[in-house]
Amino acid sequence: MTDEKTQTQEFKLDPDCELRFEVETKNEKVTVELKTGLAEVFGTELVKGRKYEFTAGAKVAVFTWQGCTVELVGKTDVSYVAKETPMGIYLNCHAAMERLREAAEKDDTRGPITMVVGPSDVGKSTLCRLLLNYAVRMGRRPIFVDLDVGQGHIAIPGTVGALLVERPSNVVDGFSQQAPLVFHFGHKTPQANIALYNLLVTRLAEVCSDRLQANKKARMSGIVINTCGWVKGEGYKLLTHAAQAFEVDAILVLDQERLYNELVRDMPDFVRVVLLPKSGGVVERSQVQRTEARDQSVREYFYGSRTPLYPHSFEVKWSEARLYKIGAPVLPASCMPLGMKAEDNLTKLVAVTPGPNLLHHLLSVSFADSPEDDVVQTNVAGFVCVTNVDVERQTFTVLSPQPRPLPNTVLLLSDIQFMDSH
Ligand code: ATP
Repeated sequence: MTDEKTQTQEFKLDPDCELRFEVETKNEKVTVELKTGLAEVFGTELVKGRKYEFTAGAKVAVFTWQGCTVELVGKTDVSYVAKETPMGIYLNCHAAMERLREAAEKDDTRGPITMVVGPSDVGKSTLCRLLLNYAVRMGRRPIFVDLDVGQGHIAIPGTVGALLVERPSNVVDGFSQQAPLVFHFGHKTPQANIALYNLLVTRLAEVCSDRLQANKKARMSGIVINTCGWVKGEGYKLLTHAAQAFEVDAILVLDQERLYNELVRDMPDFVRVVLLPKSGGVVERSQVQRTEARDQSVREYFYGSRTPLYPHSFEVKWSEARLYKIGAPVLPASCMPLGMKAEDNLTKLVAVTPGPNLLHHLLSVSFADSPEDDVVQTNVAGFVCVTNVDVERQTFTVLSPQPRPLPNTVLLLSDIQFMDSH
């Protein structure tokens, strides 16, 4: 008997083709199994006979260089085989980077620092993942830097971070997030505080440079940097600032000739700027889908995805928490103390009085021991979410990956909210 709801589809893929599918329906699960041949998902090889389970929101491509047979079980909203893909061009980029790594290995210098840029929904994150996966599959240990505060692939939205990539990403869940280096930004777009964004990018670049100095394997492997889709006006300036801060060797521009020409014009000669086509498989996301993806990322931080996590919930006394946000309103220059620029206010630590204003907000737990330290430029240990505020008892309740007490009491308020529906 066949279960009406369970669809099984088998696809035979020729070499250099990809099977694309999307799972949209809530609570729907789709499993992928490689039956014969070789195939990969965004650069991670599939193990023959293993079932990979994808849930709502997944947009996936199973690509094969050699040809293969794949089975899909479950209800997909879209599924088709594409013969035209830019994978050959992306592989060439990897090969060029690999040559630079070989040269770096020989001369004991630094490997390639590559930044991926482009407007929204062109597959920037996916290309980063692919290049990182191909690098680790060659035995490299590159650093992945994510400057996209909107999605936050390394920690949660509202942060920038870096991660040493030591193994290919998980087919379903992406890169393992063990011991990432994360800085609190607190907003879902750099526009909300450009001065702070640039300060954090500079800081992250310094720390990454130190890490490359200290780790030979990482040094030879280089860095792959993902960026935001804001590429016009001020957004463009953020990209050139990041390129400078990280001293990039190459910028891969996805799908936008105008941006490509601007960068060719503005970058020094030693920076290679390369225009790449986007994949026809990249799916555009609406504002609603972006918000959902953000929520999903926070939910997974607390509750896990494949392996469930069991977060803790406990009360914190207002008097115990040292709560801050970064950035005070900019005052007219005439009101600023002598020697301070109006912009300095944007990167200042400002005390926040606890109260109902905290409800549903995410708080970053700083590694800084005291507000006298440089909290703004100190990385964070993790995040909690305020699920209740009791004004009478002067406490708030947090959802936390770790049991009481908080590992540190210097907390940074994020603009980003999360409704805990568990
Ligand atoms: P953002 O504007 O959020 O920075 P982006 O440019 O980084 O987006 P991605 O996140 O890489 O874009 O891709 C958008 C979506 O398209 C993702 O869900 C990804 O899994 C999917 N996708 C990328 N490439 C393909 C492909 N070849 N086939 C099917 N889906 C794909």
